[in-house]
Amino acid sequence: MWSLRAWRRQRILARAPYTAAHWAVVRERLAILDGLDEAELQRLFERAVLFLHAKHLTALPGVELSLEDRLSLAALAELPLLHLADLNWYQGFHEVLLYPDDFVSPQRHRDASGVEHEWDGEHSGEAWLQGPVILAWPGVQASGGWDAYNLVIHELAHKLDMLNGDANGLPPLHRSMHIEAWASAMQQAYDAMNTTLDANPDAQTAIDPYAAENPAEFFAVTSEYFFSAPDLLRDAFPAVYTQLAAFYRQDPLQRLLRLQAEHPDYQQTRDDEQATTKG
Ligand code: ZN
Repeated sequence: MWSLRAWRRQRILARAPYTAAHWAVVRERLAILDGLDEAELQRLFERAVLFLHAKHLTALPGVELSLEDRLSLAALAELPLLHLADLNWYQGFHEVLLYPDDFVSPQRHRDASGVEHEWDGEHSGEAWLQGPVILAWPGVQASGGWDAYNLVIHELAHKLDMLNGDANGLPPLHRSMHIEAWASAMQQAYDAMNTTLDANPDAQTAIDPYAAENPAEFFAVTSEYFFSAPDLLRDAFPAVYTQLAAFYRQDPLQRLLRLQAEHPDYQQTRDDEQATTKG
C-alpha cells in the first residue's frame, strides 16, 4: 500500500549526501557495530540518515564535523533503537550541541536532609528535559568501542527516560514488560552500589560509580554498559541486563560472545577510568 510516510522517507534517503563509502568509514570506526547482520546494518544506516535529517547538529567553534563524523554520531544514537518499532523515540528535541571540550555547568543536588547543593561540575554531556542534547566532541570521538564508555548512548538514554516525564530511571516500558520486575532489578542493583560506596567512597565498583548518583544516572550508565561492555554489566547485575535486553530488544552480549568465539583475539571489554563525568 502506498504510504506518504514511506515516500517521504525514501525521498530523504535518496537526497541525503551519505554514501556507502561514508558508511564503510563508520563501520570501521565503531567496533560496537561489529556482528550486526546485513539487514541490521542497512536499517541502522537508514535510521542514522533520518536522524541527521530530523536533528540539527550544531558544532561550536573548535569542532569540525565531516560527513563521516555526523554519520558516526547518528549511528551511535540510533543503535539503541535498532530493534524498537519505528516510532519517534527521540521526540521533543531538535538539536544536538557539540562542544569542543568538556564544559562547566551548574549542578544541583538535594541531599538527604533536603539541602540543595550547587557547584560547578565539569561535564562531557547533558540532556535537558524538552531541550537539546549537549555533547563534548572528544567524548563522542571516544565512543564506539567495547570499552564501557559511550557518551552518545548515555545522554540519549536520558532522553528515552524523559519520554514519560522527568528523568527518573523509568523509561516507557513495552506492554510485554512488568514494571515490578524492572523496579526490583534496578532498585536492588542501585542499592547494592550505594551500600558499597557508602561504606567506602573509593570502593572499586563493578560498573562506573556514577551510576549510584541517582536512578536516572543508573539507567543511563547501565544502558551505556549494555551496549559497550555487556559482559561487565551482565556479570555485575544479571537482572538489570535482562530488563535492558527486554527494553532495547537486543542482546549485545550474545553478539560480543559470538565475535569472540569466531575471532579468538577479538577485543575484550575494558572498564577505563573516565576523567570527567557525564550529566
Ligand atoms: Zn547522565
